[in-house]
Amino acid sequence: MISEREAAKYPFLKGAVSLVETLSLKVDDLADPSYSRVLDRGEQRVSEAILEGIVSASLGDALTEMLSFPVAVMFVTVVGDRFLDRRYALAEAVRVYELLKGESETRIARMAREEFGWNLRLIRRELDGQIYRFELHFTDYLRNAASFHEDKWKLVNRVMRDGYVLLTRVEAARLIQVEVEDLIRKRVSKHGRIALPDAVQERVDRVAKLFEEHRARIGGEELPSEVVSDAFPPCIRHAFEGLMSGRRASHMERFALTSFLVNAGMDLDRIVQLFVSVTDFDEQLTRYQIEHIAGLRGSRTRYTPPTCATMRTHGVCYNPDRLCKRIKHPLTYYRIKIRDFKKKGEGRPAE
Ligand code: SF4
Repeated sequence: MISEREAAKYPFLKGAVSLVETLSLKVDDLADPSYSRVLDRGEQRVSEAILEGIVSASLGDALTEMLSFPVAVMFVTVVGDRFLDRRYALAEAVRVYELLKGESETRIARMAREEFGWNLRLIRRELDGQIYRFELHFTDYLRNAASFHEDKWKLVNRVMRDGYVLLTRVEAARLIQVEVEDLIRKRVSKHGRIALPDAVQERVDRVAKLFEEHRARIGGEELPSEVVSDAFPPCIRHAFEGLMSGRRASHMERFALTSFLVNAGMDLDRIVQLFVSVTDFDEQLTRYQIEHIAGLRGSRTRYTPPTCATMRTHGVCYNPDRLCKRIKHPLTYYRIKIRDFKKKGEGRPAE
């Protein structure tokens, strides 16, 4: 039986998964205040993945650390974005790599064999000042090193003995990182809708928002420079068409539309003109508000539209369609539509 501390360090292990299963936790149980630290840490894991690209190892409270992993996996699964899946899986895998570098050779070998089925032998061999501690069968080696670009990982540059590649301790840890990333990516990519208690949904929304705010910076798909109105989600189309027809919009609807257009790359003058020409809004005040949302004034934060859950709460989620069932944020809808248009060779700019 795996210890709680071991499960906290490596929560993806089969033993750790079984340990969590013995607690028979249900999603609704997480609404109990006694789980707020677990939820906080779960949210922190995903936030660290988004912001830092690595999840920290917070091992002071082993039970919280262990339970926060499946919670974080659930958050990512519910957000349902392929780029976030990859970002999170990599950040958790880098955490594991950092921890493994401090483990004994025996521990590394046990994980490699028991969790990933590696054909691996423990050795001790010194060559050219390098201490090799493992021999890994070349098929397992190739499966994991194939994505590395550095010359030192190419099979022709490796020391081999009877079909086995010699590895240092750190190299073995690096190859295990690849396995862990793959395993976690498969786990989080099972996207789906789950009815969540409010305390959990709030955190999912925050994670989805944080991800949208940082997507471009962390290398996610860039939006096209021209606005593609055909790709607008139903709520934004409704707000846009409402504005054009002179319908009075709520503050939330105006904020959602403006922040959406800002993030979609519409020129600020054009947005100001849209509002001023079809309403009796004061141009100076409208410009000030739009520039504030665009991050040119005040806190210098560029705002993103609210999440779908917040839009629903404020009654501005109109006519959600089939794609809406898969996403948590209006900008995610827009990105997916644009990707689909590109695949089909379609898509017209708005103006
Ligand atoms: S589900 Fe989201 S994207 Fe779709 S209409 Fe509602 S708020 Fe807009």
